[in-house]
Amino acid sequence: MSTLTREAALPVRKRVVADLERAVYPRCFIIPYMEIVHDRAVLELFRGCSQGCRFCQAGYLYRPVRERSVERLREQAGQMIAGTGFSELSLASLSSSDYSAIDKLVAVLEEDFAGEQVELSLPSLRADAHAVRLAGRLHKGKAVGVTIAPEAGTQRLRDVINKKVTEDDVLEAAATALQGSGSHVKLYFMLGLPTETPADLEGMVTLVRKISMIGRSGKGRKKGPSSINVSVSTFVPKAHTPFQWEPQPEVAEICGRLEFLRRELRKSKEVSFSWHDTGMSLLEAVLARGDRRLAPVLERAYQLGSRLDAWHDQFSFSRWEAALAQANLSARDYAGDAPAYTDPLPWDHLSAGIDKEFLIREHRRAMEGIITPACRHAYCAGCGLENCPTT
Ligand code: SF4
Repeated sequence: MSTLTREAALPVRKRVVADLERAVYPRCFIIPYMEIVHDRAVLELFRGCSQGCRFCQAGYLYRPVRERSVERLREQAGQMIAGTGFSELSLASLSSSDYSAIDKLVAVLEEDFAGEQVELSLPSLRADAHAVRLAGRLHKGKAVGVTIAPEAGTQRLRDVINKKVTEDDVLEAAATALQGSGSHVKLYFMLGLPTETPADLEGMVTLVRKISMIGRSGKGRKKGPSSINVSVSTFVPKAHTPFQWEPQPEVAEICGRLEFLRRELRKSKEVSFSWHDTGMSLLEAVLARGDRRLAPVLERAYQLGSRLDAWHDQFSFSRWEAALAQANLSARDYAGDAPAYTDPLPWDHLSAGIDKEFLIREHRRAMEGIITPACRHAYCAGCGLENCPTT
């Protein structure tokens, strides 16, 4: 008698589209009549990211970097705009300004769409003045809103997370962004990162104050006030990253750190401050590190009324707490866990192609504050990926 039972070969491996140049890309798609959140055509410049920020799951899951050629992107951009009628084209990737021919691409697209009502935008920029100038050029003299993500307030902590951005990079990028009339800068930081101390929070406040001084001095700015929005999210330890062995700090601790930032940052009137809901961040940590015990919890949370929880007005952490309690679990069991390197992890049967030994090495380097260079052009950090085009 034949049996349909088959065992999956473990680990389950990620599939990779090796040749993006020839991969199918949508040209005509359904356009709603109403205004939608991402109301624009999106051109994907490349897939993957070589920066290796140690908290970033996408940076590890989507390796290796695979670029499309300028010619192919030019062709796809023309087809997409003709096929959809969108008036905005977003040049998207995990870090768009890392595209190796970004200047050339912007120049040819500007040429192709000259005289047409098509606006180009660059949403994911690294903190460098050249990228900000490029974004400004695309806005053709209109007020520019630029997002810069220093992530941490001190160089020490930026080295821990492998964010290869210096304070000078951030200040230069902010100064460039704040030159336009009525310009605004959005700064993204993460709270509760591994090894964070009060000095890192003070560093965050000092960095914001330096940027607001630049805004006030109006160096090169024509007229109009500048504004600075500081947005803070809580560190969520993610599977398949070097920080999968790190705990998320307790909510009370996070609230205390947020209160410090709120108190200090409101002293500057051009600075507004927003933060991610701490209950939501805690739930994200639970789900990000979930194991099979969470299956009945998800079902129970649904039965208790959890729907559309990404909407703040719909979100109730107490429902999740109740669902966890009924399974004899707590959010802290997941978010606060700091497993040893030798402990089995719930996602060990899934492979993104990165060696666990590499993640351990990266975690150790983080604890020593040693950065690992970007692995795009000549350098390979040895993450274990097979058939990587860089190596
Ligand atoms: S194999 Fe080397 S170059 Fe390729 S993604 Fe891994 S570290 Fe980067």
